[in-house]
Amino acid sequence: MTPNTFEALPLAAPIQRALTERKYITPSPIQAQAIPHLLEGRDLLGCAQTGTGKTAAFSLPILNALYNDEQPLRPKQARVLVLTPTRELATQVGRSLETYGKYLNIKHALVFGGVGQRPQVNSMRQGVDVLVACPGRLLDLIEQGHINLSGVDFFVLDEVDRMLDMGFLRDVKRIVALLPKKRQSLFFSATLAGNIVELSHNILRDPITVTIAPETTTAEKVVQTVCFVDREDKRDLLLELLEQQQPGELALVFSRTKHGSDKLSRLINKEGIKSEAIHGNRSQPQRDKTLDRFRKGAFPVLVATDVAARGVDVKAITLVINFDLPNEREAYVHRIGRTGRAGATGKAVSFCCEDEREFLRDIEKLIQTTIQVDDSHDWHNAKLADEHARGERPRSTKKKSGGGGYRGGGGGNRGGGGGGNRGGNGGGNRSGGRVTGASSGRRRSGGGRSRRSAA
Ligand code: ADP
Ligand code: MG
Repeated sequence: MTPNTFEALPLAAPIQRALTERKYITPSPIQAQAIPHLLEGRDLLGCAQTGTGKTAAFSLPILNALYNDEQPLRPKQARVLVLTPTRELATQVGRSLETYGKYLNIKHALVFGGVGQRPQVNSMRQGVDVLVACPGRLLDLIEQGHINLSGVDFFVLDEVDRMLDMGFLRDVKRIVALLPKKRQSLFFSATLAGNIVELSHNILRDPITVTIAPETTTAEKVVQTVCFVDREDKRDLLLELLEQQQPGELALVFSRTKHGSDKLSRLINKEGIKSEAIHGNRSQPQRDKTLDRFRKGAFPVLVATDVAARGVDVKAITLVINFDLPNEREAYVHRIGRTGRAGATGKAVSFCCEDEREFLRDIEKLIQTTIQVDDSHDWHNAKLADEHARGERPRSTKKKSGGGGYRGGGGGNRGGGGGGNRGGNGGGNRSGGRVTGASSGRRRSGGGRSRRSAA
């Protein structure tokens, strides 16, 4: 039932050829467990993190079905609908379809917001085999009469947890209501929280369930550490970690805010390491261009917010740095899933300052692991580390909006979190010395130098 090679799967020759060319030999666990059932037409509920190979898990059996039952295109229609939460992810799925379907005659279209709709409308005019779309723009175009979902035979919901986080629940339900009752549906999510399971019941018919335990996937291949630091030392620590990267290695740095990611990127550039930022304020073509250049190694450090980094699938990322801890714990899993992809090993380093300790507790609860503390740097705050290890609650409890807002929350860490801001730092624990050098020596228990003062 679980094949060891792609060759053992009953996939059509042109698909096998594309896989061989791409050096896909062994199916990943989700592929091995899902593809045989999907080829038989079953619905699927797949619980798996990023980087586990979900795209091929759904694309291969669907492409196979399209190949075995070729049909003429119908105007404004698609036989396959793949819903994804972000544009980046949609683009990535589109790219995978091109890869896996290289020797098939498959037409696909991408539909998402943030770019002009005319090219998308044009690409749907004659109809396509596969439509990859984000919910908002899809509904727009349906309402305008440019897209019609009545011919959908295969429906894929990718990264559902993220889709709901982004507030797409109502849109998803509206879209599902427009689909034919008779269809094959696939539903993927990294977590199966209550409302996600509920939604899946409304969409799937007698699904097989495949759960890929986090321990055997991404998390295992990613060495996770946490650095307890003062907020004002984060920038020095960041620069030091980035300087330890080898040529050709790529790093992804997460910042909680758009503004913060721009500032961090500027700081890194100033230090002589090339870096660019992507976030929701940049236009789609800009984001695509930046991602493409990063993928090709044009610059080694990409700074991103959670939403913008969603579809980033860059194999050479060896290091993920959480400059700010996400205030939404699932985002942590998605973030570290950006490294250690497809069997490669990666490192994920999280910076945790005083007012982020609660986030760290949440994350450790979710992943059911105590993240290893890295105290081998000059800015280690032993007091914070001890308090966390003893399970003490943070002293300043002005935070935690209760898990609602994806970006909101996190009292007082907006301004400073972005890095590069030399003025006041929210925390209230510096009586006013300049950030340059002076601050890091003071509150640390062990001696140690400030990177900047030493430089
Ligand atoms: P997910 O959607 O679960 O995050 P992807 O489908 O994007 O994961 O796959 C992650 C990476 O692994 C991609 O670069 C993809 O090309 C690669 N990959 C997927 N399956 C295999 C496989 N069986 N063998 C080799 N590489 C694979
Ligand atoms: Mg994916």
